[in-house]
Amino acid sequence: MSLKPGRVFSGARPTGRQHLGNYLGAIKNYVALQDEYECVYSIVDLHALTTLESTQDLRQNSYEMALDWLAAGLDPQKCIIFIQSHVPEVTELHTILSMVTPLGKLTDLPTFKEKARMHPHNINYGLVGYPVLMTADIALYRANWVPVGVDQAPHIEFSRETIRSFNFHFNTNALVEPQMKVTNVPKVLGIDGQQKMSKSLNNHIELAATPEETQQRVLSMVTDPARIRRTDPGNPDVCNVFSMHKIFSGSEEVEMINVECRRAGIGCVDCKKRLAKNMNASLQPFRDRRADFDSKPDQVWDILHDGARRATVIAEETMHDVRAAVGLAE
Ligand code: SF4
Repeated sequence: MSLKPGRVFSGARPTGRQHLGNYLGAIKNYVALQDEYECVYSIVDLHALTTLESTQDLRQNSYEMALDWLAAGLDPQKCIIFIQSHVPEVTELHTILSMVTPLGKLTDLPTFKEKARMHPHNINYGLVGYPVLMTADIALYRANWVPVGVDQAPHIEFSRETIRSFNFHFNTNALVEPQMKVTNVPKVLGIDGQQKMSKSLNNHIELAATPEETQQRVLSMVTDPARIRRTDPGNPDVCNVFSMHKIFSGSEEVEMINVECRRAGIGCVDCKKRLAKNMNASLQPFRDRRADFDSKPDQVWDILHDGARRATVIAEETMHDVRAAVGLAE
């Protein structure tokens, strides 16, 4: 029996190679949680089907994401890492939960409206049911906690309501209502300095990029827009390069830039080169570990398959209770 104080579940769509925003916004927190909680981390490939026009890269993207998770420090001895579709019970629970979910509630969700706006030619049934599948993931593994940023709180509230509704409807406690674990993650801006870092906006810096690619991306970062000439004083408080320095550079260097930028004592190119150097130094151990895992793809797939086996044990227990509550024959 686990001595840990509860189970955490989180899933992420297989977007392939992860970027700094993914790391600072989620993966770093995943790694920290695995020491304290029983953690179940899923690469949610079925979710990806709702908006993907082409699925030919799906398998590779799942693999690349697993490489990044493992290299970042997720330890299969401490947590379960698996691919969502490898535990098909989630689709059964999704179907059952869909029977207690009013359709209007789904189409009213801001996330659905946003997705429908982004994919007007592909508003499929699966897209509408996306939050139900997400709820099935959380409920299947009887998660007590779901790590979320403040902006994702409505998703979890939906899951909690759906689970409550199921338990009430079938007069059972087969499903566990999860709590939100709100984490204060920094909003990582992309190299455009305007929008959240995102692969789809191509404003990202990949964790596994080469040092040269990293330097190139950093050199193209937007700085304080009011600093036009080298001789103009800058304002680090509005500069994303400075925000990144605070993450990747030592305190003395950060303080030096804070002072010198304001009196035009340092130029932006020099400032960015320093950032690229520090970023590359900081990411090198990650990149070495990633290359090592990537040289043994069978081992990575074994980790994922073993994770699915362990996840299935939990899923079968839940589904046994769910089927009994609903009255389905086993
Ligand atoms: Fe930003 Fe650095 Fe340029 Fe100042 S010197 S505006 S902190 S890039």
